[in-house]
Amino acid sequence: MTEPAEIVVLSGKGGTGKTSVAAAFADLSADAVFCDADVDAANLSLVLSPEELERHPFIASTKAFVDPSKCVECGLCKELCRFDAARPGKIDELSCEGCGLCSRVCPPGAIEMKPVVSGQWFISSTEKGPLVHARLEPGEGNSGRLVALVRQKAREIAKNEARRLIITDGPPGIGCPVIASLSSAKAAVLVAEPSLTAIHDLNRVLSVCEQFGVPAYCVINKYDIHEDNSKQIEDLSGERFRVIGRIPFDEEVPRSMALGIPVTSRGGRAAESIKAIWDEVLGSVAGLPDTS
Ligand code: SF4
Ligand code: SF4
Repeated sequence: MTEPAEIVVLSGKGGTGKTSVAAAFADLSADAVFCDADVDAANLSLVLSPEELERHPFIASTKAFVDPSKCVECGLCKELCRFDAARPGKIDELSCEGCGLCSRVCPPGAIEMKPVVSGQWFISSTEKGPLVHARLEPGEGNSGRLVALVRQKAREIAKNEARRLIITDGPPGIGCPVIASLSSAKAAVLVAEPSLTAIHDLNRVLSVCEQFGVPAYCVINKYDIHEDNSKQIEDLSGERFRVIGRIPFDEEVPRSMALGIPVTSRGGRAAESIKAIWDEVLGSVAGLPDTS
């Protein structure tokens, strides 16, 4: 069975138009599964009008729970908990890091470790193809594991339905979730705006792509709001990455986001640029060796 090729859309920081580009790619695709791996701020579903088919809990950790009726108030848990979460007969769930020590030392066995639900993940259908997305509870960690999970499910669906592509809206930045979004990806499309910090942000995310040997292509969004900075980014195009397109500032982009539809379904200058970029992405990916 042929492995689907995954294209991950990334940005060095949030707010560069990454999701607008990913949603437009989804709209233009013919044979793809979509994956929202930006689990801390999942927005792709807001633009693809999904119909939820499946919903599952995401369980990534355990926490201590105490049965006060069994507690003999020896104070051992309070003494040993390094996170100041345990008190006789009471555990502060927010502070508990789930190390399990208190449950092992509690003399009457009053403390039990229980799995906790950190979020939910979904399989939905959209007009253009299946979407795997997730929602992490506020303040929950483990987003890297949830990213890995939604990507794995998207890959399974792509294989089962013989779809050739996976389009992933990746997390912004360079942290653990980004690392979790890149392994086995065929290519990364980096969305950058021509700001003063863009080159710095781009360099950081490029380093992560290089660690995984994932070829990187750059799209300059709103290139015309600062053409000098855009030119600086284009001048860097070379061995590390290739600039494959520029998207002009276009009011149709925020308007489409507000309406909950991809900009390519409405048309306009930005939509035309993204169509050309998508053709370029498909052409480039077709020429790459298999990284799976
Ligand atoms: S270790 Fe167990 S018995 Fe002792 S105070 Fe903590 S919960 Fe109570
Ligand atoms: S599981 Fe660990 S962190 Fe949580 S209350 Fe017990 S000792 Fe503290």
